[in-house]
Amino acid sequence: MIIIALILINLILISFFNFKTILIILFFECLSGLISFAFLKRKSLGLYKFSSSQRIDNSNINDIQSDKYYQKLIDHFDFPIFFLDKNLEIKIQNNQSILSYGKNTSLPVSSVIRDYEFIENIGKFKKNPKFNNFIWKKELPERKTYKAQLKYFNNFIVLQVLDFTQENNSKKNQELYLTNLTHELKTPLSVIIGYLETINFHEFSLEENKSFIQIINSKSFEMKNLIDQMLKLSEVENLVKTKIKINVFETINRSINNYRELFKKKSVTLITDLDSSKNLFIDFAPNDLDIVLNNLLSNALNYSESNTTVTVFANLNIKKNQIEIIVKDQGIGISSDNLTKITEKFYRVDKSRNNLIQGHGLGLAITTEILAKNGCRIDISSDLGKGSAFKIIFPLS
Ligand code: ADP
Repeated sequence: MIIIALILINLILISFFNFKTILIILFFECLSGLISFAFLKRKSLGLYKFSSSQRIDNSNINDIQSDKYYQKLIDHFDFPIFFLDKNLEIKIQNNQSILSYGKNTSLPVSSVIRDYEFIENIGKFKKNPKFNNFIWKKELPERKTYKAQLKYFNNFIVLQVLDFTQENNSKKNQELYLTNLTHELKTPLSVIIGYLETINFHEFSLEENKSFIQIINSKSFEMKNLIDQMLKLSEVENLVKTKIKINVFETINRSINNYRELFKKKSVTLITDLDSSKNLFIDFAPNDLDIVLNNLLSNALNYSESNTTVTVFANLNIKKNQIEIIVKDQGIGISSDNLTKITEKFYRVDKSRNNLIQGHGLGLAITTEILAKNGCRIDISSDLGKGSAFKIIFPLS
């Protein structure tokens, strides 16, 4: 359209002016055309510069507009980011880093992140840029682990500070879990191997050999129990089960009947107060409440002396709108500092105290996991030397 218009204008000009004037006009038209072309080209290059990812690399870092651009960009991230110069002084910070460390432009980063391990590692990076990835711990009371990642970018060094606490803890927990499991399996296995070697000697009487076989048998069962508990724990942690309606009274009675003889044998009196639970129903995964009750009853029996009493109550707490099952013993009790730990996997209070009682410290871990999966919880209270009470709470919606 523009070209057609130009041709028409030129034709009109030819008819009005002489040849010399037309040449001059054409010269100026070409000149202005060239200038416009050059201007448009610069502008389009500029646009390209600001719309491509390469733009960042090409842009001039001293340009105020670039700093603002970087600032805007890094403000989108929800972890601290610092742009440092070659002396590791802070030049640009994102909002999250200002929130965590305050606004500290022009200060060396080592005077802003004051954790000893960070300062040591950033010093290493200064000497050797290969040390551009490191972890450090923040001391008490935070007890956090952070990960630093440093990358060169134009004339900047970009430092990202990532919260690594969870990854670090879960890695540590996994290692601990594996160490505990290996230890728990190794102990009975060594006993089994030891007795098997002894039997091979043929030096002992039939009676003696029989007693060795009994030990082998009980240790094998111990190992099987541990493996069953591990499988149960993994099942509870990973499987989502459909809940069914469960009658509280019937379930508790079923568990208690399994234990009656064992309580009698140890001369521990078992008292129940369950009448008010006869018509109470809860939504729970099939068989899981039996596992919870069996764990609590077997602990009450194991950690009680003879001639003491274990009481099991169940009732509807109208005030709190919840159903409660309580297993209360007059056993050895648990100190307050151990109370928070006994639900951890493999935790056993004072192993020497428990030496004669079989167990791997998994029962309460399974119990709490099952209860959590079913929307319930456990409250544990205890008086060292006097006894403990384990209260299962089923909130009613
Ligand atoms: P365990 O197989 O060792 O009994 P649990 O997870 O059931 O494993 O219990 C963890 C620890 O908590 C036990 O080793 C014991 O020290 C303590 N404990 C649990 N129940 C009782 C209780 N009723 N009285 C005293 N201590 C208990």
